[in-house]
Amino acid sequence: MNIFVMMKRTFDTEEKITVQNGQISEDGAEFIINPYDEYAIEEAIQVRDANDGEVTVVTIGGEESEKELRTALAMGCDKAVLINIEDDLDEGDQYTTSRILAEFFKDKNADLIIGGNVAIDGGSGQVGPRLAELLNISYVTTITKLEIDGDKATVTRDVEGDSEVIETTLPLLVTAQQGLNEPRYPSLPGIMKAKKKPLDELELDDLDLEEDDVEPKTKTIEIYLPPKKEAGKVLAGELEDQVKELVTLLRNEAKVV
Ligand SMILES: Cc1cc2nc3c(=O)[nH]c(=O)nc-3n(C[C@H](O)[C@H](O)[C@H](O)COP(=O)(O)OP(=O)(O)OC[C@H]3O[C@@H](n4cnc5c(N)ncnc54)[C@H](O)[C@@H]3O)c2cc1C
Repeated sequence: MNIFVMMKRTFDTEEKITVQNGQISEDGAEFIINPYDEYAIEEAIQVRDANDGEVTVVTIGGEESEKELRTALAMGCDKAVLINIEDDLDEGDQYTTSRILAEFFKDKNADLIIGGNVAIDGGSGQVGPRLAELLNISYVTTITKLEIDGDKATVTRDVEGDSEVIETTLPLLVTAQQGLNEPRYPSLPGIMKAKKKPLDELELDDLDLEEDDVEPKTKTIEIYLPPKKEAGKVLAGELEDQVKELVTLLRNEAKVV
């Protein structure tokens, strides 16, 4: 089976985020594999081990994304591809990303493409469905189980806490939801082997794309942090007085009753 994982390098949202000049500052930020893409990598490896074939992990980014690609190789992917847009593009949106990936996948005969359900930074959840539409293949989002039998796939997807079971056929694109599996940690032998696995680098030119072809369709107007929470108020005194004061505050200050 010809299996691909699309992986995004994201900043770690558990770390403190600072905004400078309307942009999220990358100074001192920690970068990681998008956590949903770790589920995608794990699932791809498991599907390969059960069906034979190979797993290629692909990312669009800059030179620094090599680190996360090597981690994916250390987990067990066979090959990695970096589509390096650093010198060609300053701006991009979900259209840019899915259009570049579509050009990459055009001649790959992928049986299965697995991505994350959402990137924890951009958070739009658009790249997977957009890519599948461009490739004209089936897709199922937010999956929690994947069973493959020949060219048939039975997929369970999370629907806000409920489950939906879908039967479809390959080629297929799926996006991973939490609970799909337990991503492995790269082992020491895995890390050693990863150093020798192929990591190819492509540029827009190699995909026969011009900058104009992938010009973003959207513009981010403003990025800002949520307002700081104001300190809470602790009421004191007899319970009856506290209730009276609370009602007064709700009516006169919060103006909600
Ligand atoms: C040239 C360029 C410049 C950009 N500049 C900015 C910027 O200045 N500010 C800004 O905020 N954002 C920028 N972006 C990022 C962009 O706006 C989105 O983050 C990106 O298109 C993906 O959307 P998302 O984060 O909502 O991902 P989602 O749609 O939520 O991601 C879902 C899944 O799609 C896959 N995926 C997403 N991105 C990639 C990727 N790069 N490579 C491989 N697979 C991927 C992963 O499997 C991921 O889990 C830029 C992107 C490009 C290509």
